[in-house]
Amino acid sequence: MKKILKGMLDTMNSVKTPRMTALRELHEAETGSFSILIGTILSARTKDETTTKVVKVLFSKYKNAKELANAKTKDVEKIIKPIGFYRIKSKRIIEVAKIINSKYKGKVPDNLEKLIEMPGVGRKTANCVLVYAFDKPAIPVDIHVHRISNRLGLVDTKTPEETEQELMKKIPKKYWIEINDTFVMYGQNICKPISPMCNVCKIKRDCRYYKTKNAS
Ligand code: SF4
Repeated sequence: MKKILKGMLDTMNSVKTPRMTALRELHEAETGSFSILIGTILSARTKDETTTKVVKVLFSKYKNAKELANAKTKDVEKIIKPIGFYRIKSKRIIEVAKIINSKYKGKVPDNLEKLIEMPGVGRKTANCVLVYAFDKPAIPVDIHVHRISNRLGLVDTKTPEETEQELMKKIPKKYWIEINDTFVMYGQNICKPISPMCNVCKIKRDCRYYKTKNAS
């Protein structure tokens, strides 16, 4: 895994220094676990640049779970309008804020079971919170992590949930925390869904997809 992660970073740096993912940006800015939870919910089906901008504006108005819990849906909708499915997400993030405020005294829980009890929080979102808010080992599997893991031949799976289970079995825990960030950047910049840039990829010799395509 070390070789794969290093190969991905070397490839990206040799082409163009990649833009940080939205969650990495929130992590680096030390905006706190609540903004990472809300940012992760908002980031689904939305461009990273848009998520980062909207989260900044949202948290300049509502500084914590208590303030967001008391917000009016219409006011939140106006702020997060550039985000995909903003109406549903406005209601959802206010609901989540209410739970964090009343059940957890304003603090985001740092365990998977409690996180996935919240509305709109699935395994991927919960795992993102563990990695980006708490630096805990977990493997959030989105479409990029799922696609690249299958292309490389690390797994042979049909769904992101299966991929997460297989990766957890195969990959030593010390690498879990890096996987989402590196694979997502690689999926956005190099190993894209259509026409992956295999010509510049430094891990092509370890890639099942590349070997199969160039077998004949
Ligand atoms: S060789 Fe191509 S398909 Fe394989 S990891 Fe690299 S870019 Fe992706």
